[in-house]
Amino acid sequence: MATVRFLSAGEPRRCQQRVLVRFRRETTMPMFPVLIAGGHRHAHHPEPARAPRRHPGARACPVRRGRGGAARRTASRRASGRLDEAGRERGCPRCGGLDRQRWGRTRTDVQRYRCKGCGRTWSGLTGTAVERIHLRGQFLDTLKDMMGDAPRSCRKLAKALGVSRHTAWRWRMRVLASLPGDSREILGGLVEADETFQRESRKGSREWVRHLRAPQIHPAPPRLRWQDYGRKGPPQAVVRQYQMPLLGIADREGRTALLRMPDTKQPSIEAALLPRIAPDVFLLSDGAPQYGAIAKAAGLGYWMLVAGRRSRITPATYHLNTVNGLHARWKTFRRPFCGPATKNLDGYARWMLARAEGYLPAFRRLLG
Ligand SMILES: [Zn+2]
Repeated sequence: MATVRFLSAGEPRRCQQRVLVRFRRETTMPMFPVLIAGGHRHAHHPEPARAPRRHPGARACPVRRGRGGAARRTASRRASGRLDEAGRERGCPRCGGLDRQRWGRTRTDVQRYRCKGCGRTWSGLTGTAVERIHLRGQFLDTLKDMMGDAPRSCRKLAKALGVSRHTAWRWRMRVLASLPGDSREILGGLVEADETFQRESRKGSREWVRHLRAPQIHPAPPRLRWQDYGRKGPPQAVVRQYQMPLLGIADREGRTALLRMPDTKQPSIEAALLPRIAPDVFLLSDGAPQYGAIAKAAGLGYWMLVAGRRSRITPATYHLNTVNGLHARWKTFRRPFCGPATKNLDGYARWMLARAEGYLPAFRRLLG
Protein backbone atom coordinates (compact mmCIF):
# COMPACT_ATOMS: atom_id res chain seq x y z
CA MET A 1 0.00 0.00 0.00
CA ALA A 2 1.38 3.38 -0.96
CA THR A 3 2.22 5.79 1.80
CA VAL A 4 1.74 9.51 1.36
CA ARG A 5 3.39 12.02 3.56
CA PHE A 6 4.16 15.74 3.21
CA LEU A 7 7.62 17.24 3.29
CA SER A 8 8.04 20.35 5.34
CA ALA A 9 9.50 23.40 3.57
CA GLY A 10 13.13 22.92 4.59
CA GLU A 11 13.33 19.13 4.43
CA PRO A 12 15.54 17.70 1.68
CA ARG A 13 13.55 15.94 -1.03
CA ARG A 14 15.40 12.69 -0.89
CA CYS A 15 13.99 9.39 0.14
CA GLN A 16 16.19 7.41 2.48
CA GLN A 17 14.55 4.09 1.71
CA ARG A 18 15.73 3.85 -1.90
CA VAL A 19 12.21 3.58 -3.26
CA LEU A 20 10.50 5.42 -6.06
CA VAL A 21 9.86 9.07 -5.26
CA ARG A 22 7.57 11.12 -7.47
CA PHE A 23 6.96 14.84 -7.20
CA ARG A 24 3.79 16.45 -8.31
CA ARG A 25 5.01 19.09 -10.73
CA GLU A 26 1.97 21.30 -11.14
CA THR A 27 1.49 21.89 -7.44
CA THR A 28 1.24 25.45 -6.15
CA MET A 29 1.35 24.32 -2.56
CA PRO A 30 4.31 25.31 -0.42
CA MET A 31 4.48 21.73 0.78
CA PHE A 32 5.52 18.97 -1.64
CA PRO A 33 3.35 15.89 -1.53
CA VAL A 34 5.63 12.90 -1.92
CA LEU A 35 4.57 9.44 -2.77
CA ILE A 36 6.75 6.77 -1.27
CA ALA A 37 5.90 3.44 -2.75
CA GLY A 38 7.54 0.43 -4.25
CA GLY A 39 6.83 1.51 -7.80
CA HIS A 40 3.04 1.88 -7.30
CA ARG A 41 1.08 4.63 -8.97
CA HIS A 42 -1.13 6.87 -6.89
CA ALA A 43 -4.40 8.42 -7.96
CA HIS A 44 -3.18 11.94 -7.15
CA HIS A 45 0.12 11.49 -8.91
CA PRO A 46 -0.64 10.02 -12.29
CA GLU A 47 2.16 8.69 -14.46
CA PRO A 48 3.60 11.55 -16.54
CA ALA A 49 2.97 11.40 -20.28
CA ARG A 50 5.34 8.88 -21.87
CA ALA A 51 8.17 10.19 -23.95
CA PRO A 52 7.69 9.61 -27.69
CA ARG A 53 9.30 6.49 -29.12
CA ARG A 54 12.93 7.03 -29.87
CA HIS A 55 12.56 5.37 -33.25
CA PRO A 56 9.17 6.35 -34.68
CA GLY A 57 10.08 4.79 -38.01
CA ALA A 58 11.26 1.60 -36.35
CA ARG A 59 7.78 0.13 -36.51
CA ALA A 60 8.33 -0.48 -40.20
CA CYS A 61 11.60 -2.24 -39.54
CA PRO A 62 11.11 -6.02 -39.28
CA VAL A 63 13.99 -6.35 -36.86
CA ARG A 64 12.35 -4.22 -34.18
CA ARG A 65 8.87 -5.60 -34.54
CA GLY A 66 9.47 -8.01 -31.72
CA ARG A 67 11.16 -11.33 -31.40
CA GLY A 68 9.98 -14.44 -33.20
CA GLY A 69 6.60 -14.87 -34.82
CA ALA A 70 5.70 -16.32 -38.18
CA ALA A 71 4.21 -13.04 -39.45
CA ARG A 72 7.42 -11.19 -38.80
CA ARG A 73 9.49 -13.80 -40.57
CA THR A 74 7.20 -13.89 -43.59
CA ALA A 75 7.09 -10.12 -44.06
CA SER A 76 10.76 -9.52 -43.57
CA ARG A 77 11.80 -12.46 -45.72
CA ARG A 78 9.66 -11.20 -48.55
CA ALA A 79 11.43 -7.85 -48.22
CA SER A 80 14.89 -9.36 -48.14
CA GLY A 81 14.21 -12.03 -50.77
CA ARG A 82 16.09 -10.06 -53.38
CA LEU A 83 19.01 -9.60 -51.04
CA ASP A 84 19.09 -13.35 -50.39
CA GLU A 85 19.30 -13.92 -54.13
CA ALA A 86 22.09 -11.39 -54.47
CA GLY A 87 24.06 -13.20 -51.78
CA ARG A 88 23.51 -16.56 -53.49
CA GLU A 89 24.80 -15.25 -56.81
CA ARG A 90 27.85 -13.68 -55.22
CA GLY A 91 30.97 -15.77 -54.60
CA CYS A 92 33.10 -15.61 -51.49
CA PRO A 93 34.37 -12.02 -51.08
CA ARG A 94 37.72 -13.28 -49.79
CA CYS A 95 38.72 -16.17 -52.08
CA GLY A 96 36.05 -15.98 -54.79
CA GLY A 97 35.05 -19.61 -54.15
CA LEU A 98 31.54 -20.70 -55.13
CA ASP A 99 31.38 -23.72 -52.81
CA ARG A 100 29.22 -22.40 -49.99
CA GLN A 101 26.66 -23.33 -47.39
CA ARG A 102 23.78 -21.47 -45.81
CA TRP A 103 24.81 -20.03 -42.46
CA GLY A 104 21.75 -18.63 -40.68
CA ARG A 105 20.35 -15.15 -41.13
CA THR A 106 21.87 -11.80 -40.20
CA ARG A 107 20.37 -9.52 -37.56
CA THR A 108 18.58 -7.65 -40.32
CA ASP A 109 17.12 -10.92 -41.58
CA VAL A 110 19.15 -11.51 -44.73
CA GLN A 111 20.44 -15.00 -45.62
CA ARG A 112 24.06 -15.41 -44.62
CA TYR A 113 26.38 -17.77 -46.57
CA ARG A 114 29.67 -19.33 -45.53
CA CYS A 115 32.53 -20.23 -47.82
CA LYS A 116 33.46 -23.90 -47.46
CA GLY A 117 37.01 -23.13 -48.55
CA CYS A 118 38.09 -20.33 -46.24
CA GLY A 119 35.23 -19.99 -43.75
CA ARG A 120 34.40 -16.37 -44.60
CA THR A 121 30.72 -15.47 -44.26
CA TRP A 122 28.78 -12.97 -46.35
CA SER A 123 25.28 -11.87 -47.31
CA GLY A 124 23.66 -10.01 -50.20
CA LEU A 125 24.61 -6.73 -48.55
CA THR A 126 28.32 -7.47 -48.21
CA GLY A 127 30.36 -5.02 -50.25
CA THR A 128 27.42 -2.70 -50.99
CA ALA A 129 26.80 0.79 -49.60
CA VAL A 130 24.06 -0.64 -47.37
CA GLU A 131 26.49 -2.99 -45.63
CA ARG A 132 26.35 -2.94 -41.81
CA ILE A 133 23.28 -0.67 -41.70
CA HIS A 134 20.79 -2.14 -39.27
CA LEU A 135 18.01 0.45 -39.58
CA ARG A 136 17.43 -0.26 -43.23
CA GLY A 137 13.98 1.34 -43.31
CA GLN A 138 15.29 4.65 -42.03
CA PHE A 139 18.26 4.48 -44.37
CA LEU A 140 15.95 4.12 -47.36
CA ASP A 141 13.87 7.03 -46.04
CA THR A 142 17.10 9.05 -46.01
CA LEU A 143 17.73 8.09 -49.61
CA LYS A 144 14.17 9.06 -50.58
CA ASP A 145 14.59 12.41 -48.86
CA MET A 146 17.91 13.01 -50.59
CA MET A 147 16.50 12.19 -54.02
CA GLY A 148 13.27 14.14 -53.42
CA ASP A 149 12.34 17.70 -54.33
CA ALA A 150 13.44 19.39 -51.14
CA PRO A 151 16.17 17.51 -49.25
CA ARG A 152 16.35 18.41 -45.60
CA SER A 153 19.37 19.23 -43.48
CA CYS A 154 20.85 16.38 -41.48
CA ARG A 155 19.44 17.69 -38.21
CA LYS A 156 15.88 17.98 -39.51
CA LEU A 157 16.04 14.63 -41.23
CA ALA A 158 17.48 12.92 -38.14
CA LYS A 159 14.71 14.38 -36.01
CA ALA A 160 12.04 13.15 -38.40
CA LEU A 161 13.56 9.65 -38.54
CA GLY A 162 14.30 9.41 -34.84
CA VAL A 163 18.01 8.75 -35.30
CA SER A 164 21.07 10.69 -34.26
CA ARG A 165 22.22 13.47 -36.57
CA HIS A 166 25.60 11.78 -36.74
CA THR A 167 23.90 8.66 -38.09
CA ALA A 168 22.02 10.74 -40.69
CA TRP A 169 25.32 12.34 -41.68
CA ARG A 170 27.10 8.99 -42.04
CA TRP A 171 24.27 7.68 -44.20
CA ARG A 172 24.36 10.81 -46.34
CA MET A 173 28.07 10.34 -46.92
CA ARG A 174 27.44 6.73 -47.97
CA VAL A 175 24.87 7.84 -50.53
CA LEU A 176 27.18 10.59 -51.82
CA ALA A 177 30.01 8.06 -52.22
CA SER A 178 27.75 5.84 -54.32
CA LEU A 179 26.80 8.63 -56.75
CA PRO A 180 28.25 8.43 -60.25
CA GLY A 181 31.47 10.28 -60.92
CA ASP A 182 31.84 13.40 -63.00
CA SER A 183 33.12 11.95 -66.23
CA ARG A 184 29.98 10.20 -67.41
CA GLU A 185 28.49 12.51 -70.04
CA ILE A 186 30.14 14.50 -72.79
CA LEU A 187 28.41 17.76 -73.62
CA GLY A 188 27.90 18.72 -77.24
CA GLY A 189 26.38 21.36 -79.52
CA LEU A 190 26.00 24.78 -77.93
CA VAL A 191 27.76 24.66 -74.56
CA GLU A 192 27.35 27.43 -72.01
CA ALA A 193 30.09 27.83 -69.40
CA ASP A 194 30.24 30.10 -66.41
CA GLU A 195 31.64 29.95 -62.91
CA THR A 196 29.85 30.47 -59.64
CA PHE A 197 31.35 31.01 -56.21
CA GLN A 198 30.85 29.56 -52.80
CA ARG A 199 32.42 30.76 -49.60
CA GLU A 200 35.01 28.43 -48.20
CA SER A 201 33.80 26.31 -45.28
CA ARG A 202 36.10 24.25 -43.08
CA LYS A 203 33.30 22.49 -41.23
CA GLY A 204 34.52 19.23 -39.73
CA SER A 205 38.16 20.23 -40.12
CA ARG A 206 40.61 19.15 -37.42
CA GLU A 207 43.28 21.69 -38.40
CA TRP A 208 42.89 23.87 -35.28
CA VAL A 209 42.98 20.83 -33.01
CA ARG A 210 46.17 19.64 -34.69
CA HIS A 211 47.68 23.12 -34.49
CA LEU A 212 46.95 23.51 -30.79
CA ARG A 213 48.37 20.07 -30.06
CA ALA A 214 51.59 20.52 -32.01
CA PRO A 215 52.11 24.13 -33.21
CA GLN A 216 55.62 23.39 -34.47
CA ILE A 217 54.43 20.70 -36.86
CA HIS A 218 51.05 22.17 -37.85
CA PRO A 219 51.02 25.93 -38.53
CA ALA A 220 47.91 27.97 -37.76
CA PRO A 221 45.35 27.71 -40.58
CA PRO A 222 44.90 30.85 -42.67
CA ARG A 223 41.89 33.01 -41.87
CA LEU A 224 40.78 36.62 -42.03
CA ARG A 225 42.71 38.78 -39.53
CA TRP A 226 41.37 42.01 -38.10
CA GLN A 227 43.85 44.06 -40.11
CA ASP A 228 42.43 42.59 -43.34
CA TYR A 229 39.17 44.46 -42.77
CA GLY A 230 39.01 48.06 -43.83
CA ARG A 231 36.17 50.43 -43.01
CA LYS A 232 34.10 49.02 -45.85
CA GLY A 233 34.71 45.39 -45.00
CA PRO A 234 37.52 43.18 -46.24
CA PRO A 235 39.17 44.09 -49.54
CA GLN A 236 38.00 42.17 -52.62
CA ALA A 237 41.37 40.47 -52.97
CA VAL A 238 41.01 38.99 -49.46
CA VAL A 239 37.40 37.95 -50.02
CA ARG A 240 38.34 36.21 -53.25
CA GLN A 241 40.89 34.06 -51.44
CA TYR A 242 38.03 32.45 -49.53
CA GLN A 243 35.65 32.04 -52.47
CA MET A 244 35.68 28.56 -53.95
CA PRO A 245 34.87 28.55 -57.69
CA LEU A 246 32.58 25.96 -59.28
CA LEU A 247 32.45 25.72 -63.07
CA GLY A 248 28.92 25.23 -64.37
CA ILE A 249 28.53 23.86 -67.90
CA ALA A 250 25.30 23.08 -69.69
CA ASP A 251 24.31 22.17 -73.21
CA ARG A 252 20.92 22.41 -74.87
CA GLU A 253 20.23 18.66 -74.55
CA GLY A 254 19.84 18.95 -70.78
CA ARG A 255 23.31 17.65 -69.92
CA THR A 256 24.94 19.62 -67.13
CA ALA A 257 27.93 19.48 -64.81
CA LEU A 258 29.13 21.44 -61.80
CA LEU A 259 32.87 21.05 -61.37
CA ARG A 260 34.99 22.20 -58.48
CA MET A 261 38.09 24.18 -59.48
CA PRO A 262 41.08 25.34 -57.40
CA ASP A 263 40.86 28.84 -58.93
CA THR A 264 39.53 30.68 -61.99
CA LYS A 265 42.81 30.86 -63.90
CA GLN A 266 42.87 29.66 -67.48
CA PRO A 267 44.69 26.33 -66.86
CA SER A 268 42.20 25.39 -64.11
CA ILE A 269 39.15 26.13 -66.25
CA GLU A 270 40.76 24.33 -69.18
CA ALA A 271 41.48 21.22 -67.07
CA ALA A 272 37.88 21.13 -65.82
CA LEU A 273 36.13 22.04 -69.08
CA LEU A 274 37.88 20.29 -71.97
CA PRO A 275 37.50 16.64 -70.80
CA ARG A 276 33.74 17.18 -70.49
CA ILE A 277 32.95 18.61 -73.94
CA ALA A 278 33.04 17.22 -77.46
CA PRO A 279 35.84 18.55 -79.72
CA ASP A 280 33.37 20.34 -82.04
CA VAL A 281 31.22 22.29 -79.56
CA PHE A 282 30.36 25.95 -79.84
CA LEU A 283 31.28 27.62 -76.58
CA LEU A 284 29.28 30.49 -75.05
CA SER A 285 30.57 32.39 -72.05
CA ASP A 286 30.40 35.72 -70.27
CA GLY A 287 33.01 38.43 -70.53
CA ALA A 288 35.79 36.50 -68.75
CA PRO A 289 38.77 36.43 -71.15
CA GLN A 290 39.90 32.91 -70.14
CA TYR A 291 37.14 31.23 -72.15
CA GLY A 292 38.07 32.99 -75.39
CA ALA A 293 41.69 31.90 -74.97
CA ILE A 294 40.67 28.30 -74.23
CA ALA A 295 38.37 28.18 -77.28
CA LYS A 296 41.08 29.61 -79.50
CA ALA A 297 43.69 27.12 -78.28
CA ALA A 298 41.31 24.15 -78.66
CA GLY A 299 39.91 25.34 -82.01
CA LEU A 300 36.33 25.70 -80.76
CA GLY A 301 33.67 28.08 -82.01
CA TYR A 302 33.20 30.84 -79.46
CA TRP A 303 30.88 33.73 -78.70
CA MET A 304 31.24 36.11 -75.78
CA LEU A 305 28.03 37.36 -74.20
CA VAL A 306 28.58 40.29 -71.90
CA ALA A 307 25.46 41.03 -69.89
CA GLY A 308 23.49 43.95 -71.36
CA ARG A 309 25.72 44.18 -74.42
CA ARG A 310 23.99 41.95 -76.93
CA SER A 311 24.58 43.34 -80.37
CA ARG A 312 22.13 43.12 -83.26
CA ILE A 313 24.15 40.34 -84.82
CA THR A 314 24.02 38.13 -81.72
CA PRO A 315 21.80 35.16 -82.66
CA ALA A 316 18.79 34.74 -80.39
CA THR A 317 19.87 31.18 -79.48
CA TYR A 318 23.12 32.46 -78.00
CA HIS A 319 22.46 33.06 -74.33
CA LEU A 320 23.61 31.92 -70.91
CA ASN A 321 20.16 31.26 -69.46
CA THR A 322 20.67 27.49 -69.13
CA VAL A 323 23.84 27.75 -67.09
CA ASN A 324 22.45 30.65 -65.07
CA GLY A 325 19.45 28.45 -64.27
CA LEU A 326 21.86 25.72 -63.16
CA HIS A 327 23.59 28.15 -60.81
CA ALA A 328 20.25 29.33 -59.43
CA ARG A 329 19.19 25.71 -58.80
CA TRP A 330 22.49 25.06 -57.04
CA LYS A 331 22.01 28.08 -54.77
CA THR A 332 18.48 27.00 -53.85
CA PHE A 333 19.60 23.42 -53.31
CA ARG A 334 22.46 24.23 -50.97
CA ARG A 335 20.47 26.66 -48.79
CA PRO A 336 19.23 24.13 -46.16
CA PHE A 337 22.79 22.93 -45.60
CA CYS A 338 24.07 26.37 -44.50
CA GLY A 339 27.20 26.16 -46.65
CA PRO A 340 28.50 22.61 -47.25
CA ALA A 341 32.11 22.03 -46.23
CA THR A 342 34.47 22.77 -49.10
CA LYS A 343 35.86 19.23 -49.00
CA ASN A 344 32.33 17.92 -49.69
CA LEU A 345 31.34 20.48 -52.34
CA ASP A 346 32.03 18.09 -55.17
CA GLY A 347 29.80 15.42 -53.66
CA TYR A 348 26.98 17.91 -53.05
CA ALA A 349 27.19 19.14 -56.66
CA ARG A 350 26.95 15.54 -57.93
CA TRP A 351 24.06 14.94 -55.55
CA MET A 352 22.11 17.89 -56.93
CA LEU A 353 22.50 16.61 -60.48
CA ALA A 354 21.77 12.97 -59.53
CA ARG A 355 18.37 14.04 -58.17
CA ALA A 356 17.19 14.42 -61.76
CA GLU A 357 17.49 10.62 -62.12
CA GLY A 358 15.17 9.95 -59.22
CA TYR A 359 15.08 7.45 -56.39
CA LEU A 360 15.17 4.07 -58.13
CA PRO A 361 18.49 4.38 -60.01
CA ALA A 362 20.09 5.64 -56.79
CA PHE A 363 18.64 2.66 -54.92
CA ARG A 364 19.95 0.17 -57.50
CA ARG A 365 23.37 1.79 -57.38
CA LEU A 366 23.48 1.38 -53.61
CA LEU A 367 22.82 -2.32 -53.88
CA GLY A 368 25.13 -2.71 -56.87
ZN1 LIG B 1 36.34 -18.13 -49.33
